Amino acid sequence: MKYCTRCVMPDTKPDLQLDGEGVCNACRSYEGRQSVDWDVRASELGRILARYRARDASNWDCIVPVSGGKDSTVQVIRMLQLGVNPLCVTATTCDRSEIGRKNIENIKQLGVDYVEFSPNPLIRRKLNRVGLEQVGDISWPEHVGIFTIPIRAAVQYNIPLIIWGENSQNEYGGPAAAAENNVLSRRWLEEFGGLLGLRVTDLIGLEGIEAKHLIAYTYPSDDELKRVGVTGIFLGYYMPWDGYTNALVAQAHGFQTLPATVEGSVVNYENLDNHQTGVHDYFKFLKFGFGRATDLACLHIRRGRLSRRDGMELVRKHDGRLPWTYLGKPLAEILDPLDLTVDQFITICDRFTNKKLFRTDARGNLIKDRRGNLTKLVYDNP
Ligand SMILES: [Zn+2]
Repeated sequence: MKYCTRCVMPDTKPDLQLDGEGVCNACRSYEGRQSVDWDVRASELGRILARYRARDASNWDCIVPVSGGKDSTVQVIRMLQLGVNPLCVTATTCDRSEIGRKNIENIKQLGVDYVEFSPNPLIRRKLNRVGLEQVGDISWPEHVGIFTIPIRAAVQYNIPLIIWGENSQNEYGGPAAAAENNVLSRRWLEEFGGLLGLRVTDLIGLEGIEAKHLIAYTYPSDDELKRVGVTGIFLGYYMPWDGYTNALVAQAHGFQTLPATVEGSVVNYENLDNHQTGVHDYFKFLKFGFGRATDLACLHIRRGRLSRRDGMELVRKHDGRLPWTYLGKPLAEILDPLDLTVDQFITICDRFTNKKLFRTDARGNLIKDRRGNLTKLVYDNP
């Protein structure tokens, strides 16, 4: 396990590469942003919005997918500032928190039309468990739905333009072609949209799941997309994108944060809307040896707000703790609707843990402290 010499990301992250100087592609992407002429990009965006603007007020100008988080709050604010009339669409999270609900109400109060889509909760719980057991991702249905549901809405409401936030491949590191892409296509979704090799069609027949239960998780057909001319753009390509700045702007418009930092994280302003997110982030740590604290430390280091040394310390302290609570909700209560006990959960955890990354005893069993936490073998480059 090697770490980027500039940020704190390890090379165990999928799609992340370190170059000859030991610098990761996410840091290089960020470096590339310094030479971007944002005025040129802003006029490009203006041209796109003008092309798609509904001429006669008979329909909305675009769809903005909104989770209620800081970034989507800012997406809406920017569109309103640009005189665009969006239809905001939420694919609800799997286990929504109270503060997540408040922040969605806050988005409506910015002055927009709003649609909320909630997939069948009984099926969703099955998908949470299948995702967790088969690919180690409790949030599998949510990560599919946040892409498919707004795209389906685009087809249903006949609104071709979808305004996404950041391109995760650019901010978090990914293949150069994908990182520079400003358009979200079916190919991008299939490759980076979080399917983890578990295709939606694979689920039919499992636990009584039928094709009719999976409409919300299915991408519209090519014919439908073509008929409406659906296209999606990443706002992060057209304007400088920074989660912390977005948090400040969103807060100025009523967005609420937590009084303390989120469990396993180092900030209080993101991933506030779903109690399952702690489990999701924990599995990333078990598989790849880094969690949400690493992601956040990297973002702040790149922007010069945190030294690499301080970042490493935050990571050591907060990354990869077993999520006994998330947003205050106990793990047992988070697992209960999925028909899982904490013991069963820990067995699944062990199955997905990459034992090459963590301390084990002479027999190869994982060594845990009394809170169930693992110790990484390598916390930094020598
Ligand atoms: Zn880096």
